[in-house]
Amino acid sequence: GNQQRVEANILLLGAHNVGKSALTVRFLTRRFIGEYGDIESVYSRVDRIDGQGICFNIWDSQCSQVGDTCCSLSDKHLQWADGMILVYSICDRSSFEVVRQQLQQIRRSRKPSSVPVVIVGNKRDLQRHRSVSSEEGRLLALSQQCGFFEVSAAEAYHGVLLVFHRLVDLVRETRALR
Ligand code: GDP
Repeated sequence: GNQQRVEANILLLGAHNVGKSALTVRFLTRRFIGEYGDIESVYSRVDRIDGQGICFNIWDSQCSQVGDTCCSLSDKHLQWADGMILVYSICDRSSFEVVRQQLQQIRRSRKPSSVPVVIVGNKRDLQRHRSVSSEEGRLLALSQQCGFFEVSAAEAYHGVLLVFHRLVDLVRETRALR
């Protein structure tokens, strides 16, 4: 049996204000709090998936970038991660462009076969303000061999849980192939 606990280092990336902290807190506590400080650190949660203990180490990266300029990702972040969640807001087109740019940056240092990436369109509850269609998100993910989800950290826990569990499945598949 595979009873050893597995560690999965998960890095959250994306523009400022898209809900990275909200997603992290939702996953860790099942709650939505609304406002978060800008404290960057690694949080952990242990889950049992298919009988195996998985320790999620989550790094909610904060970038100080304003507007649509891409904050450059540090190599420290990129090399640490076993899996990445790239977050944009469905009502903020510039945040979608940041995801596109960060993906290019990731691909320069990590191959798709070495680090799985899931793209997440957050704030799905704000349909009236939508400026990125589901189709665009899905197509970007497809073209870059990434997973794709639209969720609302504000409204529901389940979709957020699916994102993290899907990513850890991909991390485990990646390790099995190595
Ligand atoms: P971060 O800078 O990417 O970590 O973003 P935060 O998690 O701090 O969230 C930025 C703002 O968006 C906060 O005011 C949150 O309350 C809000 N927010 C986060 N997720 C959602 C969501 O799913 N729906 C809505 N309506 N607001 C959200």
